[in-house]
Amino acid sequence: MSGGPYDTVRVEHTERVARVVMDRPEVRNAQNLRLIDELHEAMSRCDADPDVHVVVLAGEGPAFSAGHDLKELVGPDSDPGLAERRSTPEGRFEHEREYYFERCMAIHDLSKPTIAEVRGHCVAAGLMLACMCDLIVAADDAVFQNPVLRMTGAAVELLVEPWEIGVRKAKEFLFTGDAIDAAEAWRLGMVNRVVPPDDLTDATMALAARIAAMPPVTVRLVKRSISKAVDLMGKRDALDFHFVLHQFAHDTATARRALEERQRKGSMKEVFAERDRGFES
Ligand code: ZN
Repeated sequence: MSGGPYDTVRVEHTERVARVVMDRPEVRNAQNLRLIDELHEAMSRCDADPDVHVVVLAGEGPAFSAGHDLKELVGPDSDPGLAERRSTPEGRFEHEREYYFERCMAIHDLSKPTIAEVRGHCVAAGLMLACMCDLIVAADDAVFQNPVLRMTGAAVELLVEPWEIGVRKAKEFLFTGDAIDAAEAWRLGMVNRVVPPDDLTDATMALAARIAAMPPVTVRLVKRSISKAVDLMGKRDALDFHFVLHQFAHDTATARRALEERQRKGSMKEVFAERDRGFES
């Protein structure tokens, strides 16, 4: 078994496959610290469990994940301890390194094959998380977007796009903050297959079962080898570089002004409306 019960995550076991489900559908699986912690624990336990050959990562409800839980970070309902920790550049650096960078990379570096099962919104840190998985199966209603530049940030903590959709598209995607749909994501090579929403879980589990039937040792070795090939192309160094640059972006005059503005505003709805003003497509 792979631990739990958890508050924000649940784990379903079928033969040789564990399905780890983010379970905060009321907020489109926004990732608060609890979810990040519990996801980390559930995924790590699956990796250590000899009965699990493949791990599927899914989201309960109509969306995979709307990104980090910004309510916990800014505004009237924010977590005071977290705000204190993030109040200096060094505190924020350590918080983001621990929670956003390393926890994601731990999923990327899982020894077993992983498949993201993506429906609906897969936004910003949600996209970052999905891209930590080895394969992605998307429902045809999936929407991928990283609109953080509109909010004065330098994308999210892990710049996955150049490795997922090619350099020129990555620039367009990030410079505009516009969404791409599942068909476009498939065409760009970011997702392995696109299926009707009603078939998503079955299709993902069927793919997982096929991989789970392979000798697990050889699958793990090939995963390791492909990951090494991409690392030798510079992926890990590029991710490290972007993380530091992302930290710098948090402290630009533009970002500081925007943060003060956000703290003054009551609701995240206003913040998002402001973010998207003038960018409606
Ligand atoms: Zn950040």
